Amino acid sequence: MRVTQEGNLYQLTWLPRIFPVNCYLIEEEQELTLIDAGMSYSMKGILIQAEKLRKPLTRIVLTHGHMDHVGALDGLKKNVPEAKVYISERDASLLAGDRSLRPGEPQSPVKGSVPSKIVTGPDVLLHEGDRIGSLVAVNTPGHTPGSMSFQDQRSGAVIAGDAFQTFRAVAVSGKKVPWFPFPAMATWNLEQALASAYKLIELNPSLLGVGHGNLLLDPVEAMKRAAAEAEGLLSGGGAVHG
Ligand SMILES: [Zn+2]
Repeated sequence: MRVTQEGNLYQLTWLPRIFPVNCYLIEEEQELTLIDAGMSYSMKGILIQAEKLRKPLTRIVLTHGHMDHVGALDGLKKNVPEAKVYISERDASLLAGDRSLRPGEPQSPVKGSVPSKIVTGPDVLLHEGDRIGSLVAVNTPGHTPGSMSFQDQRSGAVIAGDAFQTFRAVAVSGKKVPWFPFPAMATWNLEQALASAYKLIELNPSLLGVGHGNLLLDPVEAMKRAAAEAEGLLSGGGAVHG
């Protein structure tokens, strides 16, 4: 596991060169918040890094319900039962293995690997604007119907889950990147993802952290370029929901 620190944020990465999967530890004054729970094999590294920081892990916040973001959840809960689990109200359904759509949502199919064996449920259902320590929750649907991003109010850093990827290329979720198309293939709805990308740009993040790929400092210009490319996909008549 690779650890990259930027201020209060620690990016933990497995397989950084081949198939990177990230989790984040956010350091607060007295405690730690984990954003995303990686794969089942990510558990040990998360616990070791939390131990190094000498603060209790009190919250596990999930950006969305896909398996590569919740894989270590049951193991973590076993080791740190006092940690509370947070996920958007909408993606709590995905976490429970339910990929059905709700009335009023675009009726494109929910894609990607949805858990079938995770037994841990959420303690807190998140809504737009909720505070989790220094983080503020932002609805950024598109990759999944209930995808959320989190902005640290101290630094302006944004953790966006799979709303963007930065591995191989900076791209909006739903735009296929050569050699790493997997986030796009797991994306529910590109139109929604693009609207969420613009919403994230509006937050003027100082840093962008995503599920797959390296941290991006001063990311706004790159995010704008990625949004323009996704826009081109939609307006070019070649709308890809892959
Ligand atoms: Zn995903």
